[in-house]
Amino acid sequence: MKNQINLLLISIILSCVTSTDDNTDIVNEKQNPEIMEENRNNTDDSIIIQEKKKLLTGRYDPKLHPEFDVLDNIYHTKPEMYLHKGTINAFIKMRTQAQKDGISLIIVSGTRNFYSQKSIWERKYTQNKKNGLTNRENIRKIMLWSSMPSTSRHHWGTDIDINGFDTYFNGTNEKANKEYEWLQNNAHKFGFCQVYSEKKEGGRITGYNEEKWHWSYMPIANQLLEDYKKLITYSDINDFSASELAKELNIIEEYVLGISPTCK
Ligand SMILES: [Zn+2]
Repeated sequence: MKNQINLLLISIILSCVTSTDDNTDIVNEKQNPEIMEENRNNTDDSIIIQEKKKLLTGRYDPKLHPEFDVLDNIYHTKPEMYLHKGTINAFIKMRTQAQKDGISLIIVSGTRNFYSQKSIWERKYTQNKKNGLTNRENIRKIMLWSSMPSTSRHHWGTDIDINGFDTYFNGTNEKANKEYEWLQNNAHKFGFCQVYSEKKEGGRITGYNEEKWHWSYMPIANQLLEDYKKLITYSDINDFSASELAKELNIIEEYVLGISPTCK
C-alpha cells in the first residue's frame, strides 16, 4: 500500500513537471523575437490598411493628414483649402506656365472629405425626396454631377475643379473656352487629366456627365484608384441616405471606375 502511494506521488510530481515545461514553451514562444516582430508587422500592416481606407473613403480630417497641406489663398476661391502636397506643387507649376500664356487658373473646389460630401448629398437627397423622386431616381439625379460620400475623387486631395462649373463651361463663354483649350493642350504636361471626359462609344461610357473643370493629378490618383479597387467594397460605403442601394446601382464599377480611358 505504501509503495502504491509512493508511485502515485511520483506520477503526480512528474505530471506537474511536464505541465510546467509546457507552460515554459508557451512563454518562450511568446517571447520569441521573430514571432514578436512578425506580430508587430501584422499589426502595422493592418493599421496602414485602415488608414489607407480612411483616406480612400474620405473619413479623415485633411488638416491633420501628414500628406496634405493648406493651399495659399491666392490659388483658390474658398475660405480655406487643403490638398495633397504633390497636387499643390504640380498645380502651382501649371498655373505659372498658364500665366505666361495669358491664362489664369484658380481652384474653385479641392478636397472634400466624407463629411462635407455627405452634407452636399443629404441636401440634394432631401430636396429630391420632397419633389417625389423614388430612392433610385433620387440617386441617379444627384449622381449626374455629385458623388456618393465614400466614392468621390475629391476625397483624395488629388482632384481639383478649376475656374468654374457647368454653367461657366457651357460653351458660350469665350474666356472659359480659351481656358479649357489651354488645359486640354497643357494640363497633361503637369500630370493632370480630365477624368470625366465626354461620354462616347469607344471612350468613357458610364458615370458622371462630362466635367471640363474637374482635373485629376494622375501620379498620385492612379495609385489611389488601384488601392481603391483592392481595398474598398460596398460594405465600406455607408452612413448616408440610401447608401444601401450603392451595390445594386453598381456605383463602384460605373462611377469610381467610370473615368476617361486616356487618363489610366
Ligand atoms: Zn470636381
